[in-house]
Amino acid sequence: MGAQQVADRFTELYGTQPEGVWAAPGRVNLIGEHTDYNDGFVMPFALPHRTVAAVSRRDDGILRLHSADVAGGVVELRLDGLAPQSDRTWAAYPAGVAWALREAGHAVTGADVHLSSTVPTGAGLSSSAALEVVIALALNDLYDLGLQRWRLARLCQRAENVYVGAPTGIMDQTASSCCEQGQALFLDTRDLSQRQIPFDLAAEGLRLLVVDTQVKHAHSGGEYGKRRAGCEKGAALLGVDALRDIPYAELDAALARLGDEEEIVRLVRHVVTEDHRVERVVDLLHRGETRAIGPVLTEGHTSLRDDFRISCPELDLVVDTALAAGALGARMTGGGFGGSAIVLTESAEVDTLTKATEKAFAAAGFTTPRVFEAVPSPGAHRAL
Ligand code: ADP
Ligand code: MG
Repeated sequence: MGAQQVADRFTELYGTQPEGVWAAPGRVNLIGEHTDYNDGFVMPFALPHRTVAAVSRRDDGILRLHSADVAGGVVELRLDGLAPQSDRTWAAYPAGVAWALREAGHAVTGADVHLSSTVPTGAGLSSSAALEVVIALALNDLYDLGLQRWRLARLCQRAENVYVGAPTGIMDQTASSCCEQGQALFLDTRDLSQRQIPFDLAAEGLRLLVVDTQVKHAHSGGEYGKRRAGCEKGAALLGVDALRDIPYAELDAALARLGDEEEIVRLVRHVVTEDHRVERVVDLLHRGETRAIGPVLTEGHTSLRDDFRISCPELDLVVDTALAAGALGARMTGGGFGGSAIVLTESAEVDTLTKATEKAFAAAGFTTPRVFEAVPSPGAHRAL
């Protein structure tokens, strides 16, 4: 779906041409899972899948929203009537961004929006952040707000946490907003300091596959909250602001101090080892040892499955099948309980792995997964 098509559809809907067209991508997280609400490290990169929005300003306090991906017509909202958690529909995401900008004192006086996306929703690839960030960037440009990318990400997170009412960390919005083509983003979620890490797999004869299991387990929201609360309890018991403050070298001593808090021990162990895995991956990529990140990814999966306990049979099957068929490494990615897994493989093995996965899913009676290649793509930008 091209920017011009989205602009043309805007013109059909609203009777004028849009002032501009913007795009923001979905993301996949290479390593660093459930670390972002523990002030830790993450390492996402942007997908070629993106949300494209044609937008014009209005000066009458009205927000009109239309998505090509949702049945129903144009949604019309009054900006001064926006209230957190008052809207359970998709429109809460873009409305929440306008709300967050206005709350922060920015003079946004209305907009007409038409958007269309190739980011699958609910697949753990962050269609929600792509939607928020594309709106934030469009309003930032149109209203000349001069906000930096990390700041837009923060406002989008606030839109999702407070306005939509979905607790999420800062990774997704920062990835969509700040990623660059051919790079993975090494992000410290405590202070949002970031480093672009060259990540050109094709040049090394490698591929990263995303396997979308198309499974979404209903309890994922509540389980996320429980893990988050458990991590906060662990930090409190250990007397630190966040689990990020437990150095890897002191993990065993910290776990010993937690005594028989078995559940908390597991959560803390995952978060602290996962932060360490991000640092190991950064280090390996710097040294050009890309193939060696495979086992680190797989260790991450084991930790998410056994310690954090957020995997599911479909995700485990992707990982087990891929490894048995010769993948360099594999792990679930995203929030868990469904969604997608990633598989690092030699380019020549892509077909073998894809077929093995499809066969294993058929044998288990699971829905055929969607498999595609993830190429590190540009972050949010103006497209027209
Ligand atoms: P994820 O971010 O993993 O895809 P979420 O549950 O966080 O899953 O966000 C998905 C929700 O975001 C959808 O249910 C919908 O409300 C909204 N959304 C995402 N993309 C679009 C789109 N193109 N059009 C309308 N709503 C969208
Ligand atoms: Mg989301």
